[in-house]
Amino acid sequence: MLTDPRTHQVDPRKLASKKVDLDSHLPVAELKRLVEALASDAGDVSVHLSFGIDEQRIRYIRGNLAARVEVVCQRCLGTVSIDIQSEMNIGVVWDDEQAKHLPKHYDPLIVEEEFVDLVDVIEDELLLSLPFVSYHESEQCADDSRCAVEAVEKEETNQIRSDRDNPFNVLEKLKSSK
Ligand SMILES: [Zn+2]
Repeated sequence: MLTDPRTHQVDPRKLASKKVDLDSHLPVAELKRLVEALASDAGDVSVHLSFGIDEQRIRYIRGNLAARVEVVCQRCLGTVSIDIQSEMNIGVVWDDEQAKHLPKHYDPLIVEEEFVDLVDVIEDELLLSLPFVSYHESEQCADDSRCAVEAVEKEETNQIRSDRDNPFNVLEKLKSSK
């Protein structure tokens, strides 16, 4: 069902009232936005989802996603396989207002129409679960000579990132360079 591009659209409320369980495999190659963040389109995502309605009449999508994907090692720039996974606990709502009133343990999914592209939802979850940077284990890395300086580099990267987050830091730098 999930692997046919014509049937990505699902009616989550109908699936919830029917208490549908979904176990499927989704080729990573079909997830174009995810592939852009990876080193290759190899692999499958295993998808286990349960649709249902809780005691507060909230329609939910619960379950987990898992995949082994290939990303670029930030130390040697080779390909490294990593396992990613995501626990999903989504409350299906019609609008922002309803989303605000969802119990905290739900992530809101606003579905204004009848249908939603389930593969899009899955892809969003996987993108969020990708680590910011990945490395080989040091013995498998083509360039483990840099392991010793890695800690320093990480610190520098954090410094750059916090400068970027805070525009005032940049202003300070401009001032001091004058
Ligand atoms: Zn490496």
